[in-house]
Amino acid sequence: MNERSRELYARACKVIPGGVNSPVRAFRAVGGNPLFVSRAKGAHLWDADGHEYIDYVGSWGPCILGHAPDEVREAIMDAAKHGSTFGAPTEREIELAEAVHAAVPSMAKVRLVSSGTEATMSALRLARGFTGRPRILKADGGYHGHADFLLVKAGSGAATLGIPGSAGVPEGTAQDTLTVPYNDLAAARACFELNGSQLAALIIEPVAGNMGVVLPRPGYLEGLRQLCTKHGALLIFDEVITGFRLAYGGAQARFGVTPDLTCLGKILGGGLPLAAYGGRADVMDRVAPDGDVYQAGTLSGNPLAVAAGLKTLELLRRPGTYEKLEALAARLADGLTQAAHTAGVPTYLARIGSMMTTFFTGADVRDYQSAKTADTARFGRYFTGMLQQGVYLAPSQFEAGFVSLAHTEKLIDRTIEAAREVLRGLAA
Ligand code: PLP
Repeated sequence: MNERSRELYARACKVIPGGVNSPVRAFRAVGGNPLFVSRAKGAHLWDADGHEYIDYVGSWGPCILGHAPDEVREAIMDAAKHGSTFGAPTEREIELAEAVHAAVPSMAKVRLVSSGTEATMSALRLARGFTGRPRILKADGGYHGHADFLLVKAGSGAATLGIPGSAGVPEGTAQDTLTVPYNDLAAARACFELNGSQLAALIIEPVAGNMGVVLPRPGYLEGLRQLCTKHGALLIFDEVITGFRLAYGGAQARFGVTPDLTCLGKILGGGLPLAAYGGRADVMDRVAPDGDVYQAGTLSGNPLAVAAGLKTLELLRRPGTYEKLEALAARLADGLTQAAHTAGVPTYLARIGSMMTTFFTGADVRDYQSAKTADTARFGRYFTGMLQQGVYLAPSQFEAGFVSLAHTEKLIDRTIEAAREVLRGLAA
């Protein structure tokens, strides 16, 4: 029934590695062929065979307004009339930096880049340049893009030296990346005690989104802030997912913890390639051309992406935006939890604002280790069942699902109904 997608996948595999331009799109974790998408609008997307789905991937986070909002499309088309790239500064880049600063006051100065990977990579180079220290600390299961030194797997213990998580990452590079379990303040403390004078920065997703959604325990982010301050390392919040998602001011507004540097992406570009890093003025002043930390980009501050970002932020500033997202997502989470309970399928649903993950485990999920107790085969069956019911979820247990402003109570209820049906089948 997905003939066209199958054909396209076979054709893609001949010229594109794995048939996809980003690995998780390939459905490897859930089995089957990826759906090729032909178009999307609002809360829906359509595959190449013409099937319609309610979408909870939202392009992995950017589509908080839903797909292809008219106002954003018009802003992009208007901008395109004046040229699509100049390689010279524009007034609208200032407007976007000002808007980011107004939303996230800790970002006193902002540099626009084109992807989340570029933002985190650049922020960490800056942290190393600023502190003169070589090492960085991240959480096991934290994902910050695909720069060499960030592709480091979980180590076996708080201060374990990193090992390459990808072929092609030199061991020397990986060794400067230390990892600790998420939510384990004692482990972070021990790591700082041992390596504090070597650590340039701690980079963390304030709410983890890439091991599935995992919420910070009370006091965790505050504790990390204190550790960084005590040891002279920079605290970097990777808000590529959470920025403009959990609140207009991101996770830092929601939790009241202020990092030294912040990375933004996804929503900021309104569906076009745009990201940013920024923070304390004294740190950002070290970025070239003012300072000695080099970072550049041909398409940085691209006018179409800036126009999409500015319009998206303007629409998010409308009153009631985050209340609406909260209500819709709570309705979905409650319905899914009930459905699993009724079916007798053990699940742990983690949600904050409009991001959530249903883990197929009876355990409390607080870090990567506990996330990995999930029954991924069962998740695969759930995913396939939901797809057959016309619901498009992220094709991996360890990802976040997103509710957008284009979802309605009716669509949420239809999703819950589908889940009831699928979960009943899983229990059998
Ligand atoms: N940081 C986080 C928290 C992410 O979730 C991602 C991507 O999913 C990135 C960084 C990398 O962003 P990009 O895929 O735009 O390079």
